[in-house]
Amino acid sequence: MNTDVDTIVAIATAPGRGGVGVVRVSGRSLQAIVSGVLGEAAAARLQPRRALYTAFLDADGQAIDEGLALLFPAPHSYTGETVLELHGHGGPVVLRVLLARCIAVGTAVGARLAEPGEFTRRAFLNDRLDLAQAEAVADLIDAGTAAAARGAVRSLQGEFSRAAHALAASLTELRALTEATLDFPEEEIDFLRAADAGARLDRAIAALQALRQRARQGALLRNGLQVALVGEPNVGKSSLLNALAGEDVAIVTEHAGTTRDRLERTIEIDGVAFTLIDTAGLRETHDPVERIGIERARAAAASADIVVELVDDAAARGVATTPGCLPDAAGAGHRLRVHNKIDISGAPAGLRDGVVYLSAARGDGIAVLRTQLLAASGWLGETGGEGVFLARERHLQALDRAASNLDNARSHAAAGAARLELFAEELRLAAAALGDITGTVSSDDLLGQIFGRFCIGK
Ligand code: GDP
Repeated sequence: MNTDVDTIVAIATAPGRGGVGVVRVSGRSLQAIVSGVLGEAAAARLQPRRALYTAFLDADGQAIDEGLALLFPAPHSYTGETVLELHGHGGPVVLRVLLARCIAVGTAVGARLAEPGEFTRRAFLNDRLDLAQAEAVADLIDAGTAAAARGAVRSLQGEFSRAAHALAASLTELRALTEATLDFPEEEIDFLRAADAGARLDRAIAALQALRQRARQGALLRNGLQVALVGEPNVGKSSLLNALAGEDVAIVTEHAGTTRDRLERTIEIDGVAFTLIDTAGLRETHDPVERIGIERARAAAASADIVVELVDDAAARGVATTPGCLPDAAGAGHRLRVHNKIDISGAPAGLRDGVVYLSAARGDGIAVLRTQLLAASGWLGETGGEGVFLARERHLQALDRAASNLDNARSHAAAGAARLELFAEELRLAAAALGDITGTVSSDDLLGQIFGRFCIGK
């Protein structure tokens, strides 16, 4: 079975009830489905890209629903194939009936339910989107903050891809010059100077550094950070979690797969999502369900990006030792020391000698802690003009590979003409690594991994 020629059908709107629900169909020929679902008369009136208000019919010609039909003939559609959209009412049952009807009437053209991400996979295979853009579609849908959504749109609109392409093109040009010289050995000695190869390479390295910086910032936006609150019982971990979350006015959606239980809250600071893990929940328990939640919190705390060590300032004046309640978090990322309950101890709020003094109960000093969390995250802000684009681990790895190739190229260049061939080869490898970002050459495995994580109907 060649899955890429089947006609695919899916409910494109989110499960549940809504004002509007959309069934989307994509394939080479949708004539049978259009006439079957709309009836011959309405099908004849359906114009490309014009909404037609009509009934959607079952096999007996009875209305399943009524709504708008939209036809996007190939290649001017999301997938690059002919696409039909049926906008009906957003009820789960009516949409399922309409979906089943489209599949039944499209049997002759191999109509079947779409797999997750299959519409976008076809858009990629038909060159409507490159791989980084296709990934950006999923990242936009999954974006947890407004800043993350803006980064995803930037990637979707091709900013990331264009930057990677431009850099790859400049490397390829330099390689072509190098290889031309290789054919004339007597000129090699002068090549590096004549072609200004050193300066060109330096410019490419600088451009790559800038690209990596933007991508790293984007990865931060996409992934957010895990923050573990550790400290002895009653120092105020839960209170601090609530104080931080309570000040948060933005709505942050939970990452897929995590449940909103009492141990975790996600807050947003300057567009970056911080998931706070209250390790007060990490106590011994015999309840098997609670144990699962605790195990998850413990693992998350152990691998946290930032550990907030909380001390009761009133009880421990002058004692700055680390509480030993979470030894397995010892190797984790950035550490912030916080003294709580200054309303009792009388210490002023603020940052002194690397310690944040605050009162979780009264809210004094919470803003300072938020600033410190943001600083610890490494977030530089959405600087105007050169915006951040959402990047994935896959992209960061490709950029890292390109960077090490260019480093090698630089040392070959420094060694002079004798190593020109190696110099050219490193340039080729760096350009290939950049090509991986947009998917110039992509294995089926990689495509399966990327598109398999999409929702159905996208
Ligand atoms: P946890 O066990 O570390 O999670 O600590 P809790 O957040 O449950 O707090 C323990 C006790 O300290 C509670 O009675 C809180 O009301 C109190 N508490 C927490 N923060 C403050 C604070 O800033 N000032 C005062 N006065 N009491 C606080």
